[in-house]
This record gives sequence, structure tokens and C-alpha cells, in this order.
Amino acid sequence: MVKLYRELLCEGVSKLKSHKIEDEEFNARELLGKALSFDCRSVEFNLTLEKEVCSDIEKTFMELVDRRIKGEPLQYLIGEWEFYGLPFKVGKGVLIPRQDTETIVDTVLKKMKGKADLTVADLCSGSGCIGIALEKNLVCKEIYCVEKSAEAISYLRENIRLNGSHAKAVEGDILDSRLIESFPECDLITANPPYLTKEDMEELQKEVSFEPETALFGGDDGLDFYRSIIRLWKGKVKKGGMIAFEIGINQEDEVMEMLVHHGFENVRCRADLCGINRCVFGFKPNCT
Ligand code: GLN
Repeated sequence: MVKLYRELLCEGVSKLKSHKIEDEEFNARELLGKALSFDCRSVEFNLTLEKEVCSDIEKTFMELVDRRIKGEPLQYLIGEWEFYGLPFKVGKGVLIPRQDTETIVDTVLKKMKGKADLTVADLCSGSGCIGIALEKNLVCKEIYCVEKSAEAISYLRENIRLNGSHAKAVEGDILDSRLIESFPECDLITANPPYLTKEDMEELQKEVSFEPETALFGGDDGLDFYRSIIRLWKGKVKKGGMIAFEIGINQEDEVMEMLVHHGFENVRCRADLCGINRCVFGFKPNCT
């Protein structure tokens, strides 16, 4: 009996649904698109749905469905994900860009509007989603994306190329004082550091447990990196310059306090689209 791709897609949807994968239809379409090497939003994809299934593609698709059922994130299976309207390569070893993280990009772009010749450092850069999105939307003199993990930095470099970005990838530990000394003073420092608490790590969503622990775990209370970054990098913020962080749920009070304690002013937070405070920022006084 002849089977059409439309029917294969339905099989995938049912299998995902029976294993309690949410958004089964969306997942199945994305995975079939991946197996066919077509974007599932393309005309080619829709035309192919009416064609007869080829056994190789069926096998590839079903393998992808099985991996998804085991909890592998859809983004890793697809290998590319969109952030701030730009494509980012992702896979094992790098944190997947999340929509929540667009909050820090939006916040910074509003504050930096109209400024030119900016020197920027994005710390704990991962895939480079924040740094590259900023570089594409700001007038930068230089922008550095700092990442420690060798696995993650290979994605970062690939994403810089893919987006034709002028950001510079810097392989290094943001806690290393020699690396910090080598940096120029910046108009803007951003970071989405690991911020999950010990408790959060014990109850990770299955998909998230596939992502690198080093990009997630921020110490017992989740705040280790904010403490260190503010202390070690505040000397690299120019007078009047901005520091901006992504934060986890309910971390705004403590991170704002840290910034105030270290002499930053106009310290504020901004919520993501779900109403959760997701970004904390502050400015170095002009007159110190
Ligand atoms: N946003 C991620 C999560 O909730 C955590 C990323 C981070 O620690 N910076 O899983």
C-alpha cells in the first residue's frame, strides 16, 4: 500500500501525543521538515506532503520522533533555532536560545538607541544569541562574546559566520583576572550567566537536562555569577556605561541590591512576555 507523507506526518503526531510530548503537531512537522531537508513552512514541504513516502526518509523521521520522545530537545534535533529574527546553530553542549532572553536584548536596545561607536562585552555568551543580536542592531565599534566551553564556542563562531556578524569570539573564563585585564572599558556589558539553584537542578524539565550543566547551574542560590561578574567586571564599565543581566525567577531583588551596593545607579528590572522579571540593569555614575 502506498503511503503519503501526509499520513507519515499523522503517524508521527500520534506517536508523540501518546508519549505526552506537548505541541505534537508542531514537533512532528519540524521533524519531518528536518528529515526531508525542507523548512516545514516552505511551499516545497506542503507539496511533498502529497507525495509517496521514501523509506530512507521514513526511517530518519521515525528515529527523530523516537529521540524526541526520549526527551531530546526539538531544537537540538533540528540543529538550528531562531532568536531575535536571526538563525542560530545549536546542538549538544550549548544552551538553546530562549524567547525569554529577548527581554535583555530589547531592554538594552531601548537604552542604547542613538548611540554609536560602542564597545560591548557579552559574557557567558553560549550560542552568541545576545551578542550577535546586539551587534546586528547597535552601532558598535567592537563587540566581544566571551565563552569558556570549547563545545559552545564552536557554535558561537559558527553563528557569527552564519549571521555575517562582526562580533569577536573570545575563548576564556570570565572569572579569570588576566582575561578581564586584557579588556577595554565598555559602554555595555551583558550576561546571561548560569542562574539555576541547586533545587532547580534537582527538578529540571527532561529537555533541559540535555543542556550543559555549566550553562545552567549558578551555585546553591543561583547567584554566584552575578556576585563575581559585578565585582570583577565593574571596573570595565565606562562612566555612564550600562551593565545588564538576564536573571531567573525571583532573583531581581538580590541582583538589583548587588548593583546598588557596587555603586550602580538607575538600577531597574524588566519583565518578559509572561510577566516574569527577566532582566536587571544599572548604570555606572558619570561622576565617580
Ligand atoms: N533559562 C534557562 C532555564 O530556565 C536557564 C539559563 C541560565 O541559567 N542562564 O532553564
